[in-house]
Amino acid sequence: MSNHLVWFRSDLRVLDNPALSTAAKSGQVIGLFLLAPKQWQEHGLAAKKIAFVLRSVDALSQRLAALGIATRIIVADRFADAPQQVLQAAQAVQASKVFWNDEIAIDEQRRDNAVAQALTASGIAVERHQAFTGLPPGSVCKPDGSAYSVFTPFKKRWISIAMEQGINPLPAPTAQGPVVDAATVPDPLNGVDKFLGADFWPGGEERALAQLTQFTAEAVAAYDTDRDLPNLAGTSKLSPHLAAGTLSANQCLEAAQQNNDGKLSGGVSGIDTWISEIIWRDFYNHILAEHPRLAMGRAFKAETDQLPWNHSQEQLQRWQQGETGFPFVDAGMRQLNRTGWMHNRLRMVTAQFLAKHLFLDWRLGEAYFMSQLVDGDFAANNGGWQWSASTGTDAVPYFRIFNPVRQAERFDPEGEFVRQMIPELSDTNAKQALEPWKFGGVGNYPEPMIDLREARDRTLAIWKHARA
Ligand SMILES: Cc1cc2nc3c(=O)[nH]c(=O)nc-3n(C[C@H](O)[C@H](O)[C@H](O)COP(=O)(O)OP(=O)(O)OC[C@H]3O[C@@H](n4cnc5c(N)ncnc54)[C@H](O)[C@@H]3O)c2cc1C
Repeated sequence: MSNHLVWFRSDLRVLDNPALSTAAKSGQVIGLFLLAPKQWQEHGLAAKKIAFVLRSVDALSQRLAALGIATRIIVADRFADAPQQVLQAAQAVQASKVFWNDEIAIDEQRRDNAVAQALTASGIAVERHQAFTGLPPGSVCKPDGSAYSVFTPFKKRWISIAMEQGINPLPAPTAQGPVVDAATVPDPLNGVDKFLGADFWPGGEERALAQLTQFTAEAVAAYDTDRDLPNLAGTSKLSPHLAAGTLSANQCLEAAQQNNDGKLSGGVSGIDTWISEIIWRDFYNHILAEHPRLAMGRAFKAETDQLPWNHSQEQLQRWQQGETGFPFVDAGMRQLNRTGWMHNRLRMVTAQFLAKHLFLDWRLGEAYFMSQLVDGDFAANNGGWQWSASTGTDAVPYFRIFNPVRQAERFDPEGEFVRQMIPELSDTNAKQALEPWKFGGVGNYPEPMIDLREARDRTLAIWKHARA
């Protein structure tokens, strides 16, 4: 039987892993992890995300060892080293074929193409699969074969294809032999402590599955009403797992469908809404695959690159530190800084505050989110930022500007979330927590850094002028 090397990247799981399943059917599998901490840091990934990935590599290595699959962990400095490193690893285990699941962003695709070239030039076959999205990029097209750029028709087509094909996550491969020793990621790795953030985000496939089971049993049915209230546990918090691939979109969809009478839409409203969010994730990944320039700092609507974006470092820092003087914005930023995760409602509010009220370049906010998020995912983050800044595909219109005080009144009316995140406001009542300046300020919590109405009018004037 020939040896097959499986190179794991953002698919850190044994379940629903097409590269692993296919390799295991026709050969003796050896697993490979190529860790490139320097490159990840250069890409601006959060230390908490890197640590989550490293813990998840350890967890996967153990699950593979229990299936008789040995793993190799190689530390490479950067993507450019990958062709040489993967080739050497394949030769060292006398692999006849190397399998992997493709990644979507342009740098990763270039890396994979270079690796494939190096392997085939040395007589080693390559087999590439798709596993990051529910349906592979390029497979959801308009009747004329072109790509969608608006979510609603994309979703309609997506659901009709998925219902026709069925959502069928793959089982784990059968054991390849007796249990072997598991490889372990060195700690620290390039200055990153792999246990950073482990109290909030333990990592690994088994945790992801337990969390999915709990969410679909307890919370998904009420998702449509609870998901906008940041003081409730109304969302799944599965995003770090989906980003690292410790869980697949199809596993989420299957679990949702099972609780939804087999439906992907037209069932329980909460479940339908949650399924829609998983499809948004596919949508942004399909958009990124179709428009690689998005990974090069370009706006989807190219003309918006000409807007005179603000680059004030002082304003950026106040936003980053959660010191804007607007409690709902600051609560979101402090949640991010403390835990590495931010509730979706707050992501939209903080992003709009930066890109609309401060008129700061949305790319500054995008990069800061990436540097802090444990669930940092290029397509979802870029999509969310460009939606908020009105520069993206199917984005919020430029004249729609979330007022952070009105948002707080709707989604945190008692100020519970604000008090939880901002210690300076912990002793306030609901009204003081949401608008402390109206009560002469509270302790050393900052005064509002801008006048909301003036800032809004200025931004609208810039947009109108540019459009004229
Ligand atoms: C400015 C901005 C930046 C964002 N950056 C990221 C990011 O880097 N990584 C990331 O995973 N999500 C990002 N999102 C989307 C969304 O905020 C998070 O996916 C969500 O808050 C994660 O929490 P959850 O797992 O509890 O989500 P749930 O509400 O339980 O949703 C389930 C899953 O669906 C996907 N999802 C949900 N909403 C969206 C969405 N709007 N776009 C794409 N996928 C979605 C996520 O994978 C999520 O885990 C961003 C949104 C905005 C507005």
